[in-house]
Amino acid sequence: MIPYARQSISKLDIEMVTSALNQEMITTGPLVDKFEEQLSGYLGAETFVVNSGTAALHCAYFGIGIESGDEIITPANTFIATQATAANLGAKIVFADVDKKTGLISLDSVRSTITSRTKAIVLVDFAGQPCDIDEIRNLIGSRKIFVIEDAAHSIGSLYKGRKVGSLADITTFSFFATKNITTGEGGAVSTNNQTIYQRAKRFSRQGLVREDEEFVLDTEGPWHQEVHEFGLNYRLTDFQCALGLSQLARIEEFKRSRKYIFERYRKLLIENQNIRLLEVKEYSDSMWHLFPIFVDSDIRLPLFKHLRSKNIGVQVNYFPAHLHPVFRRIPFSNSPCPNAESFYKEEISLPIHAGVTEENVDYIVKTVEDFFK
Ligand SMILES: *Cc1c(COP(=O)(O)O)cnc(C)c1O
Repeated sequence: MIPYARQSISKLDIEMVTSALNQEMITTGPLVDKFEEQLSGYLGAETFVVNSGTAALHCAYFGIGIESGDEIITPANTFIATQATAANLGAKIVFADVDKKTGLISLDSVRSTITSRTKAIVLVDFAGQPCDIDEIRNLIGSRKIFVIEDAAHSIGSLYKGRKVGSLADITTFSFFATKNITTGEGGAVSTNNQTIYQRAKRFSRQGLVREDEEFVLDTEGPWHQEVHEFGLNYRLTDFQCALGLSQLARIEEFKRSRKYIFERYRKLLIENQNIRLLEVKEYSDSMWHLFPIFVDSDIRLPLFKHLRSKNIGVQVNYFPAHLHPVFRRIPFSNSPCPNAESFYKEEISLPIHAGVTEENVDYIVKTVEDFFK
């Protein structure tokens, strides 16, 4: 089976992890700081690491101070973690539809869902292609609304030459095994807002306050630390950070191979009348996470089964978040998202990762073509 996604683990990756396991501290040690420092430098924004992309979103929402009743606008075409973490803080989830050609949040839909209670708009960089954040900022104008970027797919991507991670008020990443770089499980939060950074990071470390000048209680000794707001334990281990450091050093190599595979698929499939491809925006230089194709909804399942039977590990991204049964119990603005629904019904993701060879791509394309013969 050619997996639809797969981690790329080098000999050096393994050596780095092994060496980290021999250190004095295997968690909350120096490699955490080092990974955070390198990520901050790479992304161009202050960054801290956590143990999943879901944790990163939870911290981001806490960081901007989401409270019960705040509305957050999210695209329907995403993984449920985008919504679940905000809902867990009491936010009212508002769904925006997506652009049919890109799967990215639709500007018109955002315009029609903004209210005076909107606290944040969440951009999900579907397939690795950044959302048009300048357009979103224009739309927000002088309103006090945060822009959160769920960049689980898009570490390494550029928007108008600028790095994803340095664009939104707060950006979250996932280092799950299928993502562009991995620590097994893991994630990160980046922001250039010092107040948000402090709040979000503290939340990921049990809410512990360690700074003398912020203590409310009299300190009885150097061991003293205190909690002002509840947090959780979202820490990442040192041996995972060792892998993260080694993976980050390979990110441009990963980007080149993902781009190469994406472009080869595109070149071979663009003339095919039976399938449609994602629209590629001129403003983007993407580290492609997915290669989605679209077919008429009545042949999506037969084609999916055909490809699986030929050992091609296809997937479907995403079951529209607003259709999950959980949203029937949570009050939310039940705006219909017809584009996200048809997008889902027509979509199949072909394998793309550093281990996909040119021969794999040619075989997959030929297998797709054979299906229509
Ligand atoms: C993977 C993913 C997440 C969650 O990340 P985990 O590390 O699996 O918790 C969130 N949002 C999107 C869009 C994702 O693809």
